[in-house]
Amino acid sequence: MFLIHCPYCEEERPELEFRHAGEAHVARPDDIAEISDEAFERYFFIRSNPKGIAYERWRHIHGCARFFNAARDTVNDRFLATYRIDEPKPDAKRLASRAERRRPQTEAAKSTPAPAKPAGVQARAARAATKKPAPKGVKTR
Ligand SMILES: [Zn+2]
Repeated sequence: MFLIHCPYCEEERPELEFRHAGEAHVARPDDIAEISDEAFERYFFIRSNPKGIAYERWRHIHGCARFFNAARDTVNDRFLATYRIDEPKPDAKRLASRAERRRPQTEAAKSTPAPAKPAGVQARAARAATKKPAPKGVKTR
């Protein structure tokens, strides 16, 4: 379990108190009844799904119940910042650089280039390091 900082309660609370509420900063068209089906599809369904920093809306459902935004690194699942709905979106480059400086030394050592291994070996090593089970449909030995 990890902790998430609620910008309204101004404290870190267990993740179980929160609910993900989709991508942040998706503006609803003012003329939504007038837009084309394709434009509505882009607004309603199409999301950026970045590998790296994602801006997401979260709700402190078992706390203050308010919505807020978060910048989260989808690669390592770390929250880089949380901010109130009325606050501007933090700059991704600044967040990435701050996260790099905060990274523990042991993690930095792990990321030094190692001799290349076949992809299957790397994937098994990564799963073993995180102690997560293999995703469904992935054969393991
Ligand atoms: Zn809260």
